Amino acid sequence: MTDKQILEIFGKTGAFLKGHFKLSSGLHSAQYLQCARVLQHPQHAEKLCKALAEKFKKTGPDIVIAPALGGILVSYEVARALGVKSLFMERVNGKMALRRGFEISKNDKVLIVEDVITTGLSTKEVIEAVKSFTSAIVGVGCLVDRSGGKVDFDMPFKSLFNLDMPTFKPENCPLCKDKIPLTKPGSRLPS
Ligand SMILES: [Zn+2]
Repeated sequence: MTDKQILEIFGKTGAFLKGHFKLSSGLHSAQYLQCARVLQHPQHAEKLCKALAEKFKKTGPDIVIAPALGGILVSYEVARALGVKSLFMERVNGKMALRRGFEISKNDKVLIVEDVITTGLSTKEVIEAVKSFTSAIVGVGCLVDRSGGKVDFDMPFKSLFNLDMPTFKPENCPLCKDKIPLTKPGSRLPS
């Protein structure tokens, strides 16, 4: 898939919007990204995750795993495309853990996926947790890399596309200075 095709799907589902937004962090941005909005459409999720899966096909993972919650659908669809199992990790007393009878054996090759990677901190927690089961991690994949090339997992890292998304404190926001109306995402559906 080309960047243009990917952005078109993100745009038409309202997962990626341009304007003037107040993010949940309180910061302002000219862009808004919410992967859940694209992943709510199974046909889009399937297509995007298949494209991500292609990037790791040769590494031959046995298991795809993601941190809950945002990564679960990505893990599921990437695993479907690769014909392997999909697991997820969740926090137990603040630490990433395998629950629900999920198992990783020491011979399993594991691919870690996410919807969006910004700081990469939760991904690093998953890497550490997976390492307690197997050393065979084939890489990290995500739909959108928002890190601006800043994250390094010390293993292959591939994204479907990269998004540079500058954010501003309200008092320094150039869009506020230009008096562009502020939208709070979620307060209305995009038209
Ligand atoms: Zn602003």
